[in-house]
Formats: sequence, C-alpha cells, structure tokens
Amino acid sequence: MDNHTKSQRSYNMSRIRSTNSKPEEVVRKYLFSQGFRYRKNDKRYPGKPDIVLPKYKTVIFVHGCFWHMHDCGRFVWPSSNVEYWEKKIYRNVDRDKEHTEKLQADGWKVLTVWECELKKKVCEQRLSALVEEIRGDTEGEKEHGQD
Ligand SMILES: [Zn+2]
Repeated sequence: MDNHTKSQRSYNMSRIRSTNSKPEEVVRKYLFSQGFRYRKNDKRYPGKPDIVLPKYKTVIFVHGCFWHMHDCGRFVWPSSNVEYWEKKIYRNVDRDKEHTEKLQADGWKVLTVWECELKKKVCEQRLSALVEEIRGDTEGEKEHGQD
C-alpha cells in the first residue's frame, strides 16, 4: 500500500472521528468516503438495519456491546436489577438472531460492527476489513447464482 493512500485514509478517518459521532455514523461516514451509497434504518427489513447496501445485497448492524451482549470486555452484567437486565438483554440477543436469520433467508449478507471495534486504535483496521467483507465475492456469487 503506498503512502499516499495511507495518509489519505488517515485524513478521512480524522475527519470522520472529529465529529464525535455515534458508532453507526462513524461507519456510515467511512463507507460514504469509500464511495458506498446506502439506506439508513430501512424499516422494510427485519431489525431496521443501520445500513442497507442494496447493490451488494448487504445489511450492516452497528451494535452496542452492552445492549447486544458482545463477548468482549465491554459487556458486564449490572450488579443490581439482574432479572430485569437479563430479560432485556436476552430479548435483544434473541431478536438479533431472528432478524439475521430472516435476512439471510432472503439472501442478504448480514454484517455486524461492534462498538468496541470502533475504538480509535482499531477503528481504521476494522472499517477497511468491513469494506472487504461488503465487496467480498458478491460478484462471483452473482455470476454463478442459482435460480
Ligand atoms: Zn464489544
């Protein structure tokens, strides 16, 4: 990778991060800067995905580690009202699973970006990996698609 590309990308990232935006906004702005066009929170799809990329038949959910019970250091059960939180969090997890299954059954690629993956140190790496995931082998699949 040449230096120009790298510095250009860092420049984009600093602009994106400087706005102090919500996690889903960070992802959207990055994708936009990479030339992707998307729909936001489209209600027609299960779970109202944060980002819908019709061209790539891909949806992206940007999940908070606590609310969606990510297996990472950010998820810790609250020490009080345990029953309340268990009910609430497990309900989210169940719904996430249900939405993913429905979308996949309809032929969508479902990608998840976790809040912890957008920490300053890892953000850029995660987002460029995300672009790879979106592009993936979509073209190949289309060409060899089954009817
Ligand atoms: Zn996490």
